[in-house]
This record gives sequence, structure tokens and C-alpha cells, in this order.
Amino acid sequence: MTRTPLAIANWKMNTDLDQAQLLAQSAVAYGHKNPTSIEIVLCPPFPWLLPVADILKDSPVLLGAQDCWPEENGAFTGDVSAQMLAPWCNTVIVGHSERRSVHSEMDDLISRKLRAALENGMRPVLCIGETLPQRTAGNAKTIASRQLDAGLTGLPPEDIARCIIAYEPVWAIGTGKSATSQDAQDMCSHIRTLLVKHDASLGEAVRVVYGGSVNTENARDIAAGRDVDGALIGVASLETDGFVRICEAISGN
Ligand code: PEP
Repeated sequence: MTRTPLAIANWKMNTDLDQAQLLAQSAVAYGHKNPTSIEIVLCPPFPWLLPVADILKDSPVLLGAQDCWPEENGAFTGDVSAQMLAPWCNTVIVGHSERRSVHSEMDDLISRKLRAALENGMRPVLCIGETLPQRTAGNAKTIASRQLDAGLTGLPPEDIARCIIAYEPVWAIGTGKSATSQDAQDMCSHIRTLLVKHDASLGEAVRVVYGGSVNTENARDIAAGRDVDGALIGVASLETDGFVRICEAISGN
């Protein structure tokens, strides 16, 4: 099975409106020239979703949100529900390590967010990955298994097939210290063996990407891994030319 490579740009709490629009226009220009070799998803801060959606309209570039809340509506000050995002977004990130650490999100909430995304017709990007002490203690794979199973447990295979898994070692996020391409490949391969336990078809069907200090220098090597379907890119997605070069590297162009 051939899986389309993916570049997911996580702008986090960065960009002003002008910068967001410029980044979106640049991604659209690249997307129009390469409509089939790569799938690009831009995840701006919430206030820029609509202006960016306007620019992505009629282009192959997709819109994603950085998070969602599982309830449809109610007394959840500051939160945005999956249902509210669904008219604009095709993808939503859940379980990012910054949500897990800064906002103390636990596996159970992340799993509810993932389900809410699916129920509202969006593709969840489930982020999993170990901290440095966990890696040093030799527990990286155990942590990935726990987080993956907690996120996906009880879902039918057809729903799991709609998820994207992002292996993001916490120690590599925003540190400039990426995992080696071999480590990224090993963990993405491990994740596929875990997916197979849910259903034999899922090892090949699900897209698994790497995230953590991906940049113009390392993107090609990392994305070349047999089991690595692309990348979730933070800081390096904030630079128009750099992001386009990363897309080229991921698509193999
Ligand atoms: C991220 O935000 O998920 C991420 C991987 O960030 P960075 O590329 O900056 O490490």
C-alpha cells in the first residue's frame, strides 16, 4: 500500500495575522504545483483558522486545529469543541506533549478528544512520545505503547485507519535536538507492530509521522525511513522558504 507523505505544520501560539496569511499563501503555491506528491496540513492558532481557511479554499492544502475539547458545548471557558472546528478543519492534533505537560492532560481526556474529532468527521493526529528520563531508563517503547493504546482502545479498525500517529519524543520538541533518522524509523516501525494488534490491516494503512526539531537539514533523511510517512513540524514551519524545502524533502522531490 502506498501512503501519501504528510507535512503537518504546527504553528503553536506563534504568528500574527500577516505572517499566518503569508505562510498559508506560500504553502498553497507549493501545493498547487505538487497536488499529489504530498499532503500538507497547516495548524494555525485558533483566531487565524478562518482567515487561513479563506486562503486554503480550492487548494490541496488542508486546515488543522492544534487541539479540541471533547464536549459539544457548555461551560468550558476558553475551550473550542471538535464540533465547532469541524466546518473548517479536516484534521486536529490531540495529545501534543505541550498539552500533556503544560495543561496536565491525561490519556483519558486525550482519548475523548480523539473520539470527538472522529465523531465530527475530522482526522485526529495522536501525538505520543517519551521524555528523556523515560528514554534513558529504556522505557521509550513502553510509553509509546501505553499512550497509543490509551488513545485508540475500543475503536473499530475503520476509525483507527482515519487517525494519524505522530511519534514525538518530548526531548526533541523545540530543542533543536532531533532523534536520529534510525531512531525515528525504529519507533515508527514499532508503532506499526502495535497497530497490527488492533487489526492486521492497520500496520500498513495508518500514517505514522515523526515530530521533534525537523528542519531543512534533517527532513529528507528522517522521511526516508520506510515506516515514516512524513513529519509534524513546529518552529521550522514558521519560515516560508524553509517549510517549502521541508515539504520537498518529505515528498522526495
Ligand atoms: C511540535 O510542535 O510538535 C514540534 C515537533 O515542534 P518542533 O519542530 O519545533 O520541535
